[in-house]
Amino acid sequence: MNTLISDLVSKFRSFSVEQQTQFLSEILSTTHYTENHSHHRIEDSIESIRFIDGLFCPLCGDTCVVKRGFTASGRQRYLCKSCKHTFSDTTKTTLQYTKKDLEIWVKYFDCMANHFSIRKSARLCKISIPTAFNWRHKILDSLRNRFYNKSEKLSGVVEADETFFHLSFKGSRHIETVAGRKAHKRGNAINKRGLSKEQVCVPCAISIRGNGLSQIGKLGSCNLSALSLTLGNRIKSGSILCSDRLNVYNDFCLRFHLEHNCSGLKHVAKLLDAQNKHIQHINGYHSSMKRFMRPFNGVATKYLNNYLVWYNEARNTNYDEYSLRKNIKNGVYIEEIYVQRDYISARNPIPVVA
Ligand SMILES: [Zn+2]
Repeated sequence: MNTLISDLVSKFRSFSVEQQTQFLSEILSTTHYTENHSHHRIEDSIESIRFIDGLFCPLCGDTCVVKRGFTASGRQRYLCKSCKHTFSDTTKTTLQYTKKDLEIWVKYFDCMANHFSIRKSARLCKISIPTAFNWRHKILDSLRNRFYNKSEKLSGVVEADETFFHLSFKGSRHIETVAGRKAHKRGNAINKRGLSKEQVCVPCAISIRGNGLSQIGKLGSCNLSALSLTLGNRIKSGSILCSDRLNVYNDFCLRFHLEHNCSGLKHVAKLLDAQNKHIQHINGYHSSMKRFMRPFNGVATKYLNNYLVWYNEARNTNYDEYSLRKNIKNGVYIEEIYVQRDYISARNPIPVVA
């Protein structure tokens, strides 16, 4: 803090409570400052969030950087003395090439934290519907990155089970080439009964404390490789995994050093009941997931992983708007993922991992 500010602060401390209140309201009434400079306040917050542990070059990771003028959009530019490249606080992030004001993005984060539709968000932020759609997925891509890289492993007692979504090519052109079949109208029953390749298997796991995760595994019924790729390294070894009697979960537990309990969560829960009255069940997790997806009127399979991350983030933060907004913001400001607009709709119609 410079001397002038520290002098002011010590003077402020010497005021009586009434004087302090009067002083603060005086400061706050100079709103023209706040309004005119809100752009910079937001900008500062990217820097303070992304470089919380100190400035570094996003291109080579070196910390030997100096200020070097401003970018065309007025952002602080830095020069990396090591790789000689210049960068700003948005380099390599979702916001790198944005032409829209950051205030609009921040407003859009609010819309997402409130689970608003594309149409409503577009209207509130005064952006076009295609832009609102692209932003949603750019934001979810960075949130997904963050979720998979940073989120803690599930531990203790964990319950797992898979759920299924209809394979959907919603919004895809040339559906016959992609799907090998004619498009069916929304809500129509799928062609085959039981588990078929028209169903997307999503392995899910939830810890007894309530943290959950889920990701597309494969088409059709669940197998060991789908479980391994989606849940494998996300459950701490030594944890107790509760599931139904499916052999595949038994094999999974052996592979990842988990204790398998197939007598059902109820049994384990009974033992733990004294310590925890709010045991979360995988069935509740599945049904709230389906409820979360309902307003989207059928999610295209190529975007399903994004929506699953959105659901998990919302659920893991207890649907608290403020925490969700903070996580979205951190994802967008920190994650080094830049997805071009054209790539969003061009992604693989079936992002199956196993
Ligand atoms: Zn560098």
